[in-house]
Parts: sequence; C-alpha cells; structure tokens
Amino acid sequence: MPPKTFNCIQCGNCCLNLSDAFQTSVSDEDVAMWEREGRFDILEWVHPIPLGEDHYIYDIWINPKTGDDVYRCPWLKKLPKQDKYICRIHDLKPEHCQKYPHSIKHAEETGCNGFE
Ligand code: SF4
Ligand code: SF4
Repeated sequence: MPPKTFNCIQCGNCCLNLSDAFQTSVSDEDVAMWEREGRFDILEWVHPIPLGEDHYIYDIWINPKTGDDVYRCPWLKKLPKQDKYICRIHDLKPEHCQKYPHSIKHAEETGCNGFE
C-alpha cells in the first residue's frame, strides 16, 4: 500500500475543536513576524505576560475588547453554503497551526481527516 499523503480537506476540526489551537501561547518568532508585517490587527489579540527582564510569554487569542480567552479562533471563517473552513491569516498563522498535524499518529489522535 502506498504511504498516505496529507491533504487538508478544510473540515475545520483542528481549529474548531482543539482548544490548544486557539487557547495557547505563541513563540517570539510568531510575534516578530506579525510585527515585521505590520499586522497590528493580529497583535491586538495577543497578550504578552512578562516572565522576567525582556522575556515574555505570548497568550493567544485574547479578545482585545474584553480581555477574555476566546472560545473560537477569531481567524476561522466558514465558507458560505459549504462545510469548509478557511484561516483568514493562512499565510501568517502561528507556527503550531502551520505544523499541524505533526504525523499520521497525531492526526489520528486528534480527529484530523487529512490522511484519509
Ligand atoms: S489561526 Fe488559523 S489555522 Fe490557527 S486555529 Fe485559527 S483559523 Fe485555525
Ligand atoms: S482537521 Fe485536518 S483536514 Fe481538517 S482542517 Fe484541520 S488539518 Fe485540515
């Protein structure tokens, strides 16, 4: 049998149901990328928590109006009249989103249908 290749079918399961996709923290590199690109619309959903001198942890996604964690990623969009979803910051999404799923096993464990 040939090895399974990954093909995202845009089911949205990862973004909708895995809370560690959107209630987590991001790297300094992600924040630097958004700063470099001038994406202050993204950065306003990031909450830096100081950990020491010049060292932060960056919580995402935090509602800039309420200061609360979100219960759905603010960048997820359902396509009209389809059961498909897109990421509105696809080219600039956080590294953990870019790297999902890490493996077939990770996909199976987390309900990703991209290897079927
Ligand atoms: S940033 Fe994009 S890929 Fe990541 S959880 Fe949100 S919609 Fe999904
Ligand atoms: S769960 Fe898998 S197939 Fe579905 S949108 Fe996420 S990466 Fe794509």
